[in-house]
Amino acid sequence: MKNPMDRQLEKRLSDRAVSIGREGNVAAFGELLELLRSSSANARRLAASALGKLAWMGVDQGAAAAALAPVARRDPHPQTRQYAIKALKAYGASAQSCLHDLHDVAANPSEKDYIRRDAAASMTFIEEAVRIAAAAAEHRCQRCGARVTADEYARSNQAFQRVFCDRCFDEVFLERRNFETQVEINKTIEARSGVVVQSEGERRIADWLTAHGVAYRYDAKFRIIAEFQIRPDFYLPEMDVYIEYWGLDTPQYKMSMYKKQTLYQQEGKRLISVYPRDLQRLDGLLTSKLHLLGYRPGIDERSEVSET
Ligand SMILES: [Zn+2]
Repeated sequence: MKNPMDRQLEKRLSDRAVSIGREGNVAAFGELLELLRSSSANARRLAASALGKLAWMGVDQGAAAAALAPVARRDPHPQTRQYAIKALKAYGASAQSCLHDLHDVAANPSEKDYIRRDAAASMTFIEEAVRIAAAAAEHRCQRCGARVTADEYARSNQAFQRVFCDRCFDEVFLERRNFETQVEINKTIEARSGVVVQSEGERRIADWLTAHGVAYRYDAKFRIIAEFQIRPDFYLPEMDVYIEYWGLDTPQYKMSMYKKQTLYQQEGKRLISVYPRDLQRLDGLLTSKLHLLGYRPGIDERSEVSET
């Protein structure tokens, strides 16, 4: 009972499914679930494919897996079954409840060979994902003994090859950073203003601020940003700006640097990062960055304006 009108509609629905998947349009997730029940086999096939693409983008994984399972098992069109089977794989442990459907497909002698193979492959993958999630769920933080989530397990295991909950992870991060900073810190350097700083880079920044009449607070005390302990190098109260000098280059230090920079960002704090390579053009860097944040050099300015 196909007519040209049906074709047109079918094409429209199919195009829509493709574009949702390609754009990663999570807001159209519900629409994809409906397309999965469309009377057009092609639209169902493309909706299944798009659902696979959205798997890691924060959609309701359980709902997606539950919608894909019957299509994987009983869709009249082989290719649509195949696409649903492949999409289920993308949902990993969340597709655990579909394992029996996949098993039935893989064991069905009247099913096409390539579909049975794909079903077996998806099963293996999902079983492995379930196993990993279960193993992670059994882990406890080595520091505080709290049960860790699968995400926490993956994150800390990757960074430290140890198991920490997120809170301990952050504390260990900072402890390590402090330890490494300590190596450099043993020097105490007096800046022009009389403030004692902890590295040559910090001294250069302190002296630049003094020379430009920019008020700053420098202190070695931790303060709390969000729930984390952070020691900002410089805080410019008049501009509500932080300046951090990232003086070391070890992997651990860099990890904690990224973490800390993310925290500033999440908290909406304005941060200027200065690295050792910036020191030779420090004047230009600080002038332009502070300028962007609204700083206008006033009559207090005592340093040369010219730049080489
Ligand atoms: Zn812990």
